[in-house]
Amino acid sequence: MIYIIDFDHTLCNTTALKEALQEGVSKFGVDEQIFAATYNRTVETIPDEYDYDTSRHAEIISKETSGDPKEIKNKLDSIIGRMDEFLFKDSLSFLNWLKDYGKIVILTWGNPKWQQTKIENSSIKKLADQCLYTGKEKSTLQLGFPEPEEEWVFVNDNPKEIKQTMKLFPKSTHLRMKRPEGKKFDPEIDQLNVPTFTELAVLKKYLQKNNKKNATIRVT
Ligand SMILES: [Mg+2]
Repeated sequence: MIYIIDFDHTLCNTTALKEALQEGVSKFGVDEQIFAATYNRTVETIPDEYDYDTSRHAEIISKETSGDPKEIKNKLDSIIGRMDEFLFKDSLSFLNWLKDYGKIVILTWGNPKWQQTKIENSSIKKLADQCLYTGKEKSTLQLGFPEPEEEWVFVNDNPKEIKQTMKLFPKSTHLRMKRPEGKKFDPEIDQLNVPTFTELAVLKKYLQKNNKKNATIRVT
């Protein structure tokens, strides 16, 4: 089996990370509004990339506040350096369990450099067999795995992305994480007819129960 797992709001409490980044630079006079506005300007600087980096964000913040760009950047980097603190508390134990039962692929869409930075600063990098940063290829995503599509299991929180992967890979299994602390979605797109879980321990039980036929899966 090959497990294709999303990062933000599935394994990572991205809301808590953003709050910590804002809190970290609040001493430079950055409140929630300034943080959100400068973050958006940072990712919009290069329209085709729509990506984030701390140097650019620190420069933009420094023009709006009294802060020194180097100091702001150091603060942002120090928080990102503690990425494991922003993973959901069940994420690493789940991946540690899962790695014995199949291949783990972390798949993230959009902001490729920023996704890479977050993942490489966390222990997830060591547990994953592969990390894919797709950028904007949402509608044409091609995954060249040798395993047949029937053996792919997607885990994601985002209903739009799940709909897209269901369309692209209809023979695969699609599961949803819907964390209480997760990203809030428009009720119109939130309706999905896929197994949905609020914690990875329950998803683990579901995998144990439903993958018995697969010889590579041992039920523990
Ligand atoms: Mg996500």
